[in-house]
Amino acid sequence: MSEKLDAGATVVIVGAGLGGVRVAENLRTGGHQGPVVMIGAETHPPYDRPPLSKKVLTEPAGRPDLKPDEFYTDSSIELRTGEHVDAVDAAAKTVTVSRADGSTYEQPYDALVLATGLLPREFPGAEGVDGVYTLRTIDDAEKLRGAIGEHPDGAAVVIGAGFIGCETAASLHTLGMSVTLVEPAPTPLAQAVGTEIGGLVTRQHTDKGVTVRSGIGVDEIVTDGASVTGVRLSDGQTVPADLVVVGIGSTPVVGFLDGSGIELASREVGGGIACNEVGRASAEGVFAVGDVANWRDHGGTQVRAEHWNHTVEQAAIVAAALLGTDHAVVPAVPYFWSDQYDLKIQVLGWPKADDEVHVVSDDGNKWLAYFSRDGMLTAVAGAGKVGAVMKTRPKLLTPTPIADVLPD
Ligand SMILES: Cc1cc2nc3c(=O)[nH]c(=O)nc-3n(C[C@H](O)[C@H](O)[C@H](O)COP(=O)(O)OP(=O)(O)OC[C@H]3O[C@@H](n4cnc5c(N)ncnc54)[C@H](O)[C@@H]3O)c2cc1C
Repeated sequence: MSEKLDAGATVVIVGAGLGGVRVAENLRTGGHQGPVVMIGAETHPPYDRPPLSKKVLTEPAGRPDLKPDEFYTDSSIELRTGEHVDAVDAAAKTVTVSRADGSTYEQPYDALVLATGLLPREFPGAEGVDGVYTLRTIDDAEKLRGAIGEHPDGAAVVIGAGFIGCETAASLHTLGMSVTLVEPAPTPLAQAVGTEIGGLVTRQHTDKGVTVRSGIGVDEIVTDGASVTGVRLSDGQTVPADLVVVGIGSTPVVGFLDGSGIELASREVGGGIACNEVGRASAEGVFAVGDVANWRDHGGTQVRAEHWNHTVEQAAIVAAALLGTDHAVVPAVPYFWSDQYDLKIQVLGWPKADDEVHVVSDDGNKWLAYFSRDGMLTAVAGAGKVGAVMKTRPKLLTPTPIADVLPD
């Protein structure tokens, strides 16, 4: 059911990242006339995050802004950067905002869109240690790039071989550092795509000269009292490091909702803000999009994803729900990509780590694989196989036996 806005209604968006910007843009292109206020804690105008682990590290790329500055004025979107929403009063329909100078104010809303993203997990005990980095913001990326510049031929350890860890390892290697990638699971990306595809990703890194230590944990980040000097693994070995990047996952930014009565999803289903299938949260007029949002999917399962396309699609759906045009929304096939070295890895569909995996081509570098469950196609993944991956989309939109896509 849609929650159509009055023509002059005020929409407040908390979080000026991809999800926030796309909701604001969709509201304007969909014809909403009332005030759209976007409040972002970072001091920068909204920028794109995928380049942070790639081009922003490897090239003098500058900040990858999502929109030119004039977009916000031309679209009458009131962008308030450097301001933090501290609390939501869902009964009074106001948010409490603090400015950098310590002053606070109350901002009323008719509709509230929460797009607050994630905070990276720190390695326990290594918070604030010099030479230890996480990667979520442009400021993080610039700090890391500065550190790489100080140790151009140095040693780096990346803890965690999820997508951000793998991409960062590739970038550090590309810049000439000697890189060790450490992952407690049996392979990189095992949780996302299983160990068979994870093995292909391991090969991609080891062929380039990155040392992949999977199936092993990290006991401690070792310091000389002030700066990092290495990483002690659970087998007792210490890998020397001039810098360490921690990529051990992130947590949804929901602390500001304490006491708001807005329902959160349980940790078992990924946490974040509990929403229905158009992003509506439990309080009237409140929606959530992007990495922080845990939506009910069309099968009735609560799902929280941390991917760019997912955020863009959710933003279009939330705007449509607010504009009362959500009947036109078509369910999408989940998609994400990851650029590592010169290869684009793409995953389309609903892969599960325990799906059956069918690698149908592999030339030692580029590969293509289908995933199936109970004899039915669930997903496709490829490296350097853009056309073949994308061609599978229609087959994922309808139930397709795996036999129909496998070569004879
Ligand atoms: C390094 C990196 C690489 C990535 N690479 C890929 C990739 O290759 N492919 C892919 O599919 N996805 C990738 N992603 C994921 C993709 O960027 C995210 O899915 C997307 O940015 C999510 O957008 P969002 O709007 O939900 O959150 P964000 O972009 O994180 O924006 C949230 C904003 O809200 C602000 N905020 C939080 N709390 C408050 C508050 N209380 N008040 C005001 N503001 C607040 C934050 O400061 C932040 O600016 C990558 C992410 C990172 C970090």
